[in-house]
This record gives sequence, C-alpha cells and structure tokens, in this order.
Amino acid sequence: MSELFDLAVVGAGAAGLAAAASGARRGASVVLLERLSRPGKKLLATGGGRCNLLNEGLSAAAFTSTDPGLVASVLDRFGAKEIKVFFEGLGLSLQSDESGRVYPATNQAASVLKVLELEMERRGVTVETGFDVDRITAAPVGFIVDAADGRNIAARAVILAGGGRSYPALGSNGSCYDLAASFGHRIVTPVPSAVPLLVKDRMCHFLQGQRLRTCVAARIGGRPGPSTEGELLFTQYGLSGTAVLDVSESLSIALNRDGEKDTAVAVDFVPFMPEKELADELSKRLRAGWPERDLAAGLLPEKFALVMPQLFREAAAAGGPGRGADAAQKLAAALKSREFRVQGTRSWNEAEFTSGGVDAREVAPRTLGSKLRKGLYLAGEVLDVQGGRGGYNLAWAWASGFVAGLAE
Ligand SMILES: Cc1cc2nc3c(=O)[nH]c(=O)nc-3n(C[C@H](O)[C@H](O)[C@H](O)COP(=O)(O)OP(=O)(O)OC[C@H]3O[C@@H](n4cnc5c(N)ncnc54)[C@H](O)[C@@H]3O)c2cc1C
Repeated sequence: MSELFDLAVVGAGAAGLAAAASGARRGASVVLLERLSRPGKKLLATGGGRCNLLNEGLSAAAFTSTDPGLVASVLDRFGAKEIKVFFEGLGLSLQSDESGRVYPATNQAASVLKVLELEMERRGVTVETGFDVDRITAAPVGFIVDAADGRNIAARAVILAGGGRSYPALGSNGSCYDLAASFGHRIVTPVPSAVPLLVKDRMCHFLQGQRLRTCVAARIGGRPGPSTEGELLFTQYGLSGTAVLDVSESLSIALNRDGEKDTAVAVDFVPFMPEKELADELSKRLRAGWPERDLAAGLLPEKFALVMPQLFREAAAAGGPGRGADAAQKLAAALKSREFRVQGTRSWNEAEFTSGGVDAREVAPRTLGSKLRKGLYLAGEVLDVQGGRGGYNLAWAWASGFVAGLAE
C-alpha cells in the first residue's frame, strides 16, 4: 500500500465527480475510483446525449425518499443556484428550455464531462480507472479500499457514489449496495424506474412504432396512481414514451417490490377533446354510416384504423351495441380511458433510474455521513432518493456529491 489519501470516492459518475471536486477544493487529497475504463460514461448518455443536468424548478418536493427531510437539507446547502454557479465557474455555458430543463449551451453531454475532467486535473485529483471496488474495510487509518484485481488504497474517509442498478453497461451494477450493506446499511429493494412497461394487448401489436400525445394514468390495486400528459409509444412488447416512463415508478414498485398483481395504465387517446364532444362527433359519424375502421379518422393517427374494429367490439361488449348514441358514448369512453393491464417492466438495461437504495434515514442530513460508520459518506443514486425526469436526478447527484465532499 502506498499513499494515504484524505478521501477516496467510489464511482466517477455525476455524484462522484462533484464529490471529488468539492473535496479537492477544501484541500483534501482525493482519489477517484472508477470501475470502467473512463469516468462519466453514463453522463455521456444522459438527456439523449445533451445532458439535462438540472431543472430550474429544483426543490425537495420533486423527490421521493425514505427521508424527504434529507433531500431538503442537501438542496438548502447546494440547490439550483449553486449548481449553476458550480458549472459556470468550470466554464460551462448553460441554457434552459421553456419547461425549466437546463442543458449545456453546446447541447453536448461531452462538454459537461470535459469541464469536470479538467477540474479533476486542475485540483490534482488522482483518477484510478478499471478500479472495481469490491471490498472496503475499516482500518486504524480509516479505510482500506480493495479492487477486484488486487489493487488497494488507503483513505481517511470514503464516499460511496457508485450509483444504482440501472444501465449496468454504463457502470452502475448495484455493487455499492453491497458495500453499504457491509457496514450494516439497510437497502430499500431497488426496482427499475423510468422504464417501459410490458403489456400483452393486440393494440400494441397493431400500433407498434406509433407515437402520439396522450394522458396516461397509473392504476394500482384498483386505486388511481400518478397521471401525466405526454408522449406514448406503442412497442412490440407494450408501452413506452415519456408519459409512460413518468408514471412507471409507482407501477414498478407495486410489481417488482410489493408483488401487486393488479396494475394497469389508463390512456386517454384524445386529450384535446372532452368526452361529451367526442361522443357527439362519433355519434354523427355512426349515423352517417362511416365504416368502423375510419371512425377515428382525422382525430387519431391513420394507423388507428387497424384497431378501431377491436375498440368498437370492446365498446359493444361494454353495453353499447349497434350504431346509436349509446355505442358512440361507449366508444368515446374507451378512447378517453382505455385500460392496459401491466404485466411487468422492462429490465435494468432500459431503466433510466433506480427507485430504492440505501435507506436515506441512515445518513446525516447536513453531511451525508453514515450514521453507522464514521468516515463513510453516501451520495447520488445509491441513496433511496428519486426525482422526476427533467433534470432532477442529475441535480441530486451534483448536490449530494458536492455536499458529501465538503465533510472533513
Ligand atoms: C440513458 C439515461 C439517460 C439519463 N438522462 C438523464 C437526464 O438527462 N437528466 C437527469 O437528471 N438524469 C438522467 N438520467 C439519470 C442520471 O444519469 C442518474 O441519476 C445519475 O447519473 C446518477 O449519478 P450517480 O453518480 O449517482 O451514479 P452514476 O452516474 O450511475 O455513476 C456511478 C459510477 O460509479 C461507478 N461504479 C459503480 N460501482 C463501482 C465500484 N464498485 N467500484 C468503482 N466504480 C463503481 C460506475 O461505473 C459509474 O461510473 C439518465 C439515466 C440514463 C441511464
């Protein structure tokens, strides 16, 4: 074993890079340990390669956690303003869209990573790549951090910033849960979040590849769950698109953590028209003898002609046979709230985020220090803190990373 570092940061993702920067700025000697061949691989894939690094509306209300107070306390110390100042100070110009999403002005995630890597160089952070931490042990000096290939380092303090379990090809394979658990931390069962849904329904088969603007509402155990307006995408296996990703967390928790079988999404295909108006329009069309397949022509994409006979039959089975006002009403109701039973979620390889992780009540609110082991800190997605899509999760990674790095 050679040098003793003040601080070892496990994971060179968003949280780890921010933690290393703040640790080095306060004068600590810092080593940043990354299992992949280079830092920030996931960062490069964020925001479709543009990196939506923050949302102007950042507040604790945008997050769920075992300890909402922890999120509030971290964002009080390092919120939207501080995150902007941090990046602008690194030389990164920023721009926001109309919904408050903040991106680098270059529209390139690579710019975000570049300014962080330059900061690592400037501050003398030692970056060890291909260093897959598989054990951390308490030692008189603080900690010994062992890699799978036999290398090790010693450090007075350690920050676990290895992320969750989503997109394992980009580095986060859940190993930091095991490292945290080795110090006695409780892990809230991680489940994939912001993830497409598995649905067996002929509509998905016929409409695969079709995107449209909808309202999507989750139903769990017969009760209404979160709902949102946005894009829906029919796929070969079920449903995707931003609106589906946005409501997927509660469904994934119900299915993958709680074992709930009764899960569904109700989709409003015609959010721009009230149900009564739609029923009147369909009634006119039915009376005028429009063919079943063309009943939604001009209201929905042309591909819907393939499924209108099915929807018409479903409406008939629900008590609206024939071509009268009742049939029009039932068909309008089906188009305004068509239920799809959700069988499961797609895998970790398609989940943008992990819901669950290290119980947030087990870290100190101001410092993110472990309440179970002095000198151990946790930051980023490894904690049971999850934000909505739109820049909140990266904001949490920067904020929690920076705050954890400040602790002596
Ligand atoms: C495709 C995609 C797009 C996304 N887009 C956005 C977006 O635009 N805006 C947004 O806010 N959020 C986005 N997210 C979510 C966001 O990227 C994450 O919440 C955020 O990166 C979490 O940061 P982190 O540092 O905690 O973990 P990660 O970014 O996952 O970084 C963890 C790092 O630790 C390393 N590591 C893990 N275990 C070990 C170990 N044992 N030893 C050494 N190294 C280890 C990993 O290789 C990785 O580099 C997106 C996620 C994905 C997958």
